[in-house]
Amino acid sequence: MRIILHIDLNSYFATIEQQANPRLRGKPIGVTGGDRLDRTVLGTASIEAKKLGVKTGMPIWEAKRLCPNLILVRGDSDKYLSTTKQFINILKDYSPDLEIFSIDESFLELPTHNNLQDATRFAVEIKQKIRSRIGEWVTCSIGISYNKLMAKLASDLQKPDGLVAIYDEESACWILDRCKLDDLCGIGYGIKKRLFDLGVADFKRLRLMSKESLLAHFKSYGETLYNMARGIDHTPVLPFYEKDEVKSIGHQYTLNNNTGNLEKIRQLLLKLTELIARRSRAKKLVGKTVSCWFRYADFSGAGMQITIPYTHNGLEVFNGAWTIFNKTWTGRQIRLVAVSLSNLKPQNPHNLTFLEEDLRQERIIKTLDLVNDKYGEFTLKRGYLL
Ligand SMILES: [Mg+2]
Repeated sequence: MRIILHIDLNSYFATIEQQANPRLRGKPIGVTGGDRLDRTVLGTASIEAKKLGVKTGMPIWEAKRLCPNLILVRGDSDKYLSTTKQFINILKDYSPDLEIFSIDESFLELPTHNNLQDATRFAVEIKQKIRSRIGEWVTCSIGISYNKLMAKLASDLQKPDGLVAIYDEESACWILDRCKLDDLCGIGYGIKKRLFDLGVADFKRLRLMSKESLLAHFKSYGETLYNMARGIDHTPVLPFYEKDEVKSIGHQYTLNNNTGNLEKIRQLLLKLTELIARRSRAKKLVGKTVSCWFRYADFSGAGMQITIPYTHNGLEVFNGAWTIFNKTWTGRQIRLVAVSLSNLKPQNPHNLTFLEEDLRQERIIKTLDLVNDKYGEFTLKRGYLL
């Protein structure tokens, strides 16, 4: 049995601001976007503000109405990044299998000689080390379980300063039956809506659906959903050095105005993936791992990666990114989108295709590249970018 810890720093940006400025401690504060002036949405709310109903991602006017004493603090991403480095350094001592999931969340898979008692002891130690090295005001919620999915859910169950373990599939099902569908990472807005349309509103009902019918409705993701309802997840912990940061081609884009407009986001992803595909063609590379992640207006983020057949075709990269987006997006406004293609290898010139559609795509891509090399990016573009 694997033992995985999910460590999530509580109300991260707000807590770090309170750590830096003791006068803010114990008070309801909200962190706002620091780098752009037109931010109208509240970033992370402090634990005290959350108790008064203020939520991360809420428009500032609404937060002020709920809590007139709310103190707004301008966000400082450099400060958060340097704290995250300290956080990673603490975790690194426990296992090489450490995945940096986001700026304030990590997965840690313990070596096989460790048991659940060790895990609990380590969790308590990690909390102490965070307090002594990062700051006495900083807390985290830790979930311990036999896979990533359940460890993440466990850490969500108790906030702040939580420590929850889900030992086996039986207890996982018991807990899932008391959760909402989108409490699970991997059931975003789109998937939840489609499940609702099928009459599935909770995990009990999801467990009643056959694998065949889930596969018919959700293609390969049907299997994941089937497993999720049973607390099963085989996703490996991806150590950060294996995330292949250097050997990837990526683009990210910060929006001028936060948006929740699906069509706008789709257009943006199309554009980013087209740029990535063009750069990989210029380097004569093909890649098979598509990563897509995004940040909400409050700086919190989500994303994941998936494997597709090796490609340098923008449309195929887009399909991967779009799938990820639909799985992870919760429907809230976003401020930043990023996509990358990794697991790259040289394009094999002998790997010829004779499929009519593939040949047609190759010709289209060649023509696009020729024209755009000569006259500039997006001179000639696919119709769907209009
Ligand atoms: Mg957090």
